[in-house]
Amino acid sequence: MRRPLVMGNWKMNGRLEGAKVLLAEVAAGVSGLNATEVVVCPPFPFLHLGGVQGGIAFGAQNVAAEAEGAYTGEVSAAMLKDVGCKYVIIGHSERRTLFGESNAVVARKFAQAQAQGLIPVLCVGETAEERDRALTEEVIGGQIQAVVAVAGAAALADAVIAYEPVWAIGSGRAAAPADAQAVPHFIRALVARLSAEVAAGMRILYGGSVKAQNAPELFAQPDIDGGLIGGAALNAQEFVGICRAADTAARKGS
Ligand code: PEP
Repeated sequence: MRRPLVMGNWKMNGRLEGAKVLLAEVAAGVSGLNATEVVVCPPFPFLHLGGVQGGIAFGAQNVAAEAEGAYTGEVSAAMLKDVGCKYVIIGHSERRTLFGESNAVVARKFAQAQAQGLIPVLCVGETAEERDRALTEEVIGGQIQAVVAVAGAAALADAVIAYEPVWAIGSGRAAAPADAQAVPHFIRALVARLSAEVAAGMRILYGGSVKAQNAPELFAQPDIDGGLIGGAALNAQEFVGICRAADTAARKGS
């Protein structure tokens, strides 16, 4: 049985006082949801709030591909570990598109995270154009194979994969549940060719315009183990509603 995971990606939004309020509201709303793991990924300067609220794990939104040294502006995996992070998002489509992160760079970041005991949340997904050209499996297969080539298949046992169709992120247009299920199913089958045990235990999230209203149907899909949430993670009521949907789906499935 895979424990569901709901992860809020706050991106570069908000200020410190608002972050404290949001965190307190989320913490109050999710207390008692035992079946689901709840994680928030605030911007780096707010990660110190992780010690303040119980019951919510913290993750970072990015990490350096290098261990340490003269890399102005970068933040290492060891530093994230020092401030109490459990997870780190790797290869979000905004990093790939806006900051030019290649599959090779993403793979190095993944390895750095694991070397420091962080759990990487590897984001994969196709653009609308790739989808229209029926390239979804090829693109996502390549994104995963690049990580396996550097870190090895066994490394996926201590990782999470987030399937985020690029066209669904921030668009208000989530994938239809059957389409959202098809890609995690493909990912699990791909990983099963390397290790059936790793594939069976690995958590795969869906991300892209998840809201409290569409979460129940998405989380009812057999290969979807929770969500990576962007916009709705900035609204405590919405985010708590999504966490509740994951918890209900988990209790129905157990
Ligand atoms: C994201 O950026 O990872 C994301 C899923 O965003 P949204 O929920 O706003 O689509």
